[in-house]
Amino acid sequence: MNGVSLDQPRKTPKPAFPPEELFRYKDGAAAVDFLDSGVVGYTYGDFVMLPGHIYFGVEDVSLKSRITRKTHLQLPLVSSPMDTVTESEMAINMAMQGGIGIIHYNNSVREQKREVDRVKRYENGFITDPKTLSPSNTVRDALEIKHRYGFMGIPITESGGMNSKLVGIVTNRDVEFVHDKDTPLGDIMVTELQTATEGCSLELAYSILKESKKGKLPIVNERYELVGLVARTDILKNRDFPESSKDKTGKRLLCGASIGTRMEDRDRLDALVEVGVDVIVLDSSQGDSVYQIDMIRYIKNKYPDLEIVAGNVVTQNQAYHLIKAGADGIRIGMGSGSICTTQEVMACGRAQATAVYRVSKVAREFDVPCMADGGVSSSGHIIKGLACGASCVMMGGMLAGTEESPGEYFYKDGVRLKKYRGMGSVDAMKKGSSVRYFSEDDRIRVAQGVSGAVADKGSVKRFLPYLRMGVKHGFQDLGVRSISELHDQMYNGTLRFQVRTPAAQLEGNVHSLYTYEKSTHSG
Ligand code: 5GP
Repeated sequence: MNGVSLDQPRKTPKPAFPPEELFRYKDGAAAVDFLDSGVVGYTYGDFVMLPGHIYFGVEDVSLKSRITRKTHLQLPLVSSPMDTVTESEMAINMAMQGGIGIIHYNNSVREQKREVDRVKRYENGFITDPKTLSPSNTVRDALEIKHRYGFMGIPITESGGMNSKLVGIVTNRDVEFVHDKDTPLGDIMVTELQTATEGCSLELAYSILKESKKGKLPIVNERYELVGLVARTDILKNRDFPESSKDKTGKRLLCGASIGTRMEDRDRLDALVEVGVDVIVLDSSQGDSVYQIDMIRYIKNKYPDLEIVAGNVVTQNQAYHLIKAGADGIRIGMGSGSICTTQEVMACGRAQATAVYRVSKVAREFDVPCMADGGVSSSGHIIKGLACGASCVMMGGMLAGTEESPGEYFYKDGVRLKKYRGMGSVDAMKKGSSVRYFSEDDRIRVAQGVSGAVADKGSVKRFLPYLRMGVKHGFQDLGVRSISELHDQMYNGTLRFQVRTPAAQLEGNVHSLYTYEKSTHSG
């Protein structure tokens, strides 16, 4: 049987000892010794892994994996389909860094389709949704954009939106000395424009920008309608992302989207397929239902090549039913999310590490990758989720509060925060997400999540590389060079675990200090 994850690292550095010497003593416990217990449920904080033998560099560690049978990732990280976590900006950045984002569906079909479309059309360097205004907008409107987003260089179109005829551009210089802030932009905009045509390469766009010494280059179609923008500042910032997750075309970024299991979700599905969604996540807090099984069969019948992640599940039977129905990936977690109150309210769920271990073991028999969803609050938890058998890890709270998550920052008690809410919270359900948690005719809705806020984490452009590095360092300490090696060692008992007592858990965290500062990453 193949391991669930793929790809061995490039080089084959050699350990200092042969295997019988490397694993001579059986210290600690094998995963099976404690995670297979039917009586006790463990979660990430309850245990640690014992270190192995280091014989390779951090860069020799490969984190390549899969989210479904056929969908490959360069980085085993997935952003959760929550309306305070994943829309197109998050999904673009997740895929650029090698992971994948799942666009939430607490929105209209049109909105969700547009978000997926943005990811699939994204080309590094091209801005496909620039801020635009119309000639009748005023200098005040332009200054408002500058104030909110920190840039100027606004294309002016007839309608004030994209895909409308380009009529001018307004830059800092044009508005700087205008005293009457109610002056229409039509009176001051520059109308002699340097443009490039849709389909032009990024290199060409950049060379036009360099020559013209302009800040922004509008991209137009054959009807002279605005379809994009290239910014001069991006020339400096533009980096290559050789590790990005791409679809079969090898060009477009991977993108997932979540849907429910109702009749109307079939229309949603068609709309998402139209714009090229790669992975459908059937979003339910208890996935083992006839509704989900019917939906999997319906999708497999209509779109046999579309990959489906089914869930959520925490038991082997639940997973088995969904795999039998045709699931290509399994999402594990019930009640482990940071915003979640399911176990408290419904008395149903499972501690996450045990859930991941038990479910992944069954899914491995069918070569179906598993995603450990929820309860992750450090790079260590990602490593533990993978060590319990998951092929990738889904995060909500960890990615909320980043620049790329939806929503605006606000201040409370002097701290910069962003909203983060459970999709089963009263707050989110008011917007429509109750379908994940209830049937339509439930008249009294019992919330299964809370609404709160998380601290500003900066950009995922810096945060994801930090997580990647943290996970690679962990793999190096364990003495494993890939996820498949980690799984092999976990299943054959060479990877050793130890349960931590409450005192050991205290010891394992920062302690005995009067004050300290915890920065997660630098650079
Ligand atoms: P986190 O990464 O914040 O610990 O957990 C995120 C996960 O929690 C999501 O991917 C989803 O599975 C789950 N989740 C999201 N909203 C809710 C909710 O309102 N209630 C429950 N029970 N789970 C939620």
